[in-house]
Amino acid sequence: MNEKYDLHCHSTASDGALSPTELVKRAQQQGVTVLALTDHDTVDGLAEARQAAAESAIRLIDGIELSAGYKSQCLHIVGLNIDPNNTTLLTGLAKQQDLRAERAKKIADKLEKNRIYGAYDAVIQSAKDGMVTRSHFADFLVSEGHVSTQQEAFDRYLAQGKPAFVCTEWATLEETVNWIKEAGGIAVLAHPTRYKCTASWMNRALTAFKALGGQAIEVATGRANADEINTCHRYAQKYQLHGSAGSDFHSPEFPWLELGRISALPKSLPAVWELF
Ligand code: AMP
Ligand code: MN
Ligand code: MN
Ligand code: MN
Repeated sequence: MNEKYDLHCHSTASDGALSPTELVKRAQQQGVTVLALTDHDTVDGLAEARQAAAESAIRLIDGIELSAGYKSQCLHIVGLNIDPNNTTLLTGLAKQQDLRAERAKKIADKLEKNRIYGAYDAVIQSAKDGMVTRSHFADFLVSEGHVSTQQEAFDRYLAQGKPAFVCTEWATLEETVNWIKEAGGIAVLAHPTRYKCTASWMNRALTAFKALGGQAIEVATGRANADEINTCHRYAQKYQLHGSAGSDFHSPEFPWLELGRISALPKSLPAVWELF
């Protein structure tokens, strides 16, 4: 069968707009046959997604997207085919979730210093039981009229170096890769061309990632252009990593990042799903 893979997307368990059930339904409508739900630092959406997948033609891969510190930058490490009940993983996630809760207060404090009030209550309300992310703050800044788009919210307030950015001591790259391995999963470096770093920095990060047991790198993503795909393909070859494909879908409001709308992986590159 000709499978259509999407191995990176978000639900209301983190900064996605759709519930896990709605997400699975939309993925099926878009022709996806194998879907990994990869919420930020939580596995809470997976049980519902699994139930929805059982009532659809979708094969669900249990996934996660972990925030990982490496040499004062934050990398995103996707875990695929993880056991969501693994104790080591769940213990690690509890720490990440505490860090997220503390960071949300600090971001709100910084916004108050910029005379922007009410952010904390608003993001707690909009995140409901899910992870509080900077996307929730971005949505708040848009809805209160401080900025006109999510992107502008990051550019003016939330991105690194901007007034409401809070430096966070996420788990290390080593810890996050280990949690994924302990949970029987495959560690994948997410969206390699989205980090603001030099090529030599990325080569150091990839050397470390490979040595720690990282197995794959995203090559085909929702945003990648031909140059970016080439860059990631070369990294994959150089470090002997499998290639992954994921849209990083968050919301139907951003139709340029749609479920399943991903360019093909280069044919010569071994695909991560060969490891499932
Ligand atoms: P967090 O993990 O809470 O720091 O939030 C990270 C999320 O914010 C990412 O997964 C994206 O969804 C979003 N994000 C990060 N940087 C940007 C940016 N420059 N523009 C728009 N969204 C961003
Ligand atoms: Mn996100
Ligand atoms: Mn990410
Ligand atoms: Mn993501």
